[in-house]
Amino acid sequence: MLKRARNNLPERRSDSRFETPRASSHTVGRMTTIRNFADIAKALRRNTSDIAKFLFRELGVPGELKGNELVLNGKINERLINQRLEEFVAEYVICKECRKPDTDMKKENDFFVLKCQACGARRSFKA
Ligand SMILES: [Zn+2]
Repeated sequence: MLKRARNNLPERRSDSRFETPRASSHTVGRMTTIRNFADIAKALRRNTSDIAKFLFRELGVPGELKGNELVLNGKINERLINQRLEEFVAEYVICKECRKPDTDMKKENDFFVLKCQACGARRSFKA
């Protein structure tokens, strides 16, 4: 039941065609590897390093990029990783005005600026 509640984030709408790609991870000992990390970044059109930083902070573990994979120094449940990815998408990919995923993120001084290609809305936040 908890799973179902968490999967229904209020940001998701049926009219949004955008599907957040699912992370595929495996845990060995105390290391968790997201195998399709580069593919996720490509689908979201974001830098792997930006998504990695977000995940390190939100999951509370350090880690490092290794080729197309992201290695997390901790035992992290795949479901939790996907939940955090959904949050990343809701916050940094989907336009808050028109709900489309057609946004660009640029760094300007100490800020990231999210600009929507569909409706022109801009939003900025501290890097
Ligand atoms: Zn928009």
